Amino acid sequence: MSEPSFRAKFACSEGCDFRASLTEVVYRCPTCGGLLEVRHDLSALRSRAASEWRSLFDSRFGAARLPLASGVWGKREWVYPDLEDGDIVSLGEGRQPLLPLPRLAAELGLASVDLKQCGISATGSFKDLGMTVLVSAVARMRRLGRRVRAVACASTGDTSAALSAYCAAAGIPSVVFLPRGKVSLAQLVQPISNGALVLSLETDFDGCMRIVQEVTRDPSIYLANSMNSLRLEGQKIVAVELCQQLGWEAPDWVIVPGGNLGNAGALGMGFELMLSLGLIDRRPRIAVAQAEKANPLVRAFRSGFADLSAVQAQPTLATAIQIGSPVSMRRAARTLRSFDGVVEEAAEQDLSDAAARADLEGAFTCPQTGVALAALSKLARAGTIARGSRVVVVSTAHGLKFYGFKEGYHRGTLAEVDGRWRNPPVEVRATAQAVEEALDRRLG
Ligand SMILES: *Cc1c(COP(=O)(O)O)cnc(C)c1O
Repeated sequence: MSEPSFRAKFACSEGCDFRASLTEVVYRCPTCGGLLEVRHDLSALRSRAASEWRSLFDSRFGAARLPLASGVWGKREWVYPDLEDGDIVSLGEGRQPLLPLPRLAAELGLASVDLKQCGISATGSFKDLGMTVLVSAVARMRRLGRRVRAVACASTGDTSAALSAYCAAAGIPSVVFLPRGKVSLAQLVQPISNGALVLSLETDFDGCMRIVQEVTRDPSIYLANSMNSLRLEGQKIVAVELCQQLGWEAPDWVIVPGGNLGNAGALGMGFELMLSLGLIDRRPRIAVAQAEKANPLVRAFRSGFADLSAVQAQPTLATAIQIGSPVSMRRAARTLRSFDGVVEEAAEQDLSDAAARADLEGAFTCPQTGVALAALSKLARAGTIARGSRVVVVSTAHGLKFYGFKEGYHRGTLAEVDGRWRNPPVEVRATAQAVEEALDRRLG
């Protein structure tokens, strides 16, 4: 088969006719100020039949060596088609398990609930999927002689961990802007270890985001937040991969926790691409889940997306989505409209119990995934998610990054939470008899 020339460029996501190369330093449409998206040459992609794409991707799913062993670069024609091997910066992202939770599914009357384990990755969150694409693009820019002194991001923790790890792999300086005292210790230690310049600012995420946008007006400091649409090209692979793992079928519902809302849009892009190339033939419905304490999209949804205004985010255990002014709100609203989507929210108690409940089935969930799982229960009990549905919940980070949340839950020290599934260690005297009594009490 001769290799068709697949191409992609930046285009305005609001429909203006602006176009730019993926190596340009540009984040917004100069005409309307809207976000950009990566536009692929669909007619070139259509020159391969759906069955050819499926077997190509399936054959690469077992590849042993990078870059094709990466779940993102194993689908490189759909991500950044003309990127050369030498520019790819990969830590082996993607190819993450789809973990079935059959007991939870049965309890909710659903055919299946699967957790897409995006936190099982190099830095422990789905942010790796997008960062491999962005940092690879920067590596290419630098090779082509563009002056990029550093890559920078504002972060609720996981973006900075991913950015600094990929930059460390590529030997590119990174700068991360963190809201002081609002990220977990594990998340703070990651960019420190990977050699980033870690700026701890006395503000919240929204404040950090404002400052990083100002600083990156200097084109030699490249912006790595998800308003940079290169990130979404990698993140959309979650949609493709989960359908592949279901035998190239879309589930009935996909639920994702939403903060800055890039991921919700990215999922939509992945499903759209598969639909337009014929790899799947059904449109799943999408649910975005937010914490009650930081719920701008919930409010927007209730207004039929007429009102997309920001809120002041309140402290929540789901710190990675404690965002009041999401950069990708418009994009997420569009995605939800075209996927017959809904938005649901979760209280602190419910997100904590839902996370703990999934752990009892073998997962080790972060509080953000707890928000998505709590939304799943609410939507299934309300009948919005019909009985017998097949549901995939996107687990966005590894629970180990949030061990303070886990420990607090089981110790019973979290504010506003009285854990239903608390399982604190049992203190026993160091004798066989005391231990046997403890066994009998627990096991009957
Ligand atoms: C970033 C992040 C989110 C939110 O993703 P958005 O694309 O900003 O909506 C959710 N969960 C975790 C663990 C994250 O790191």
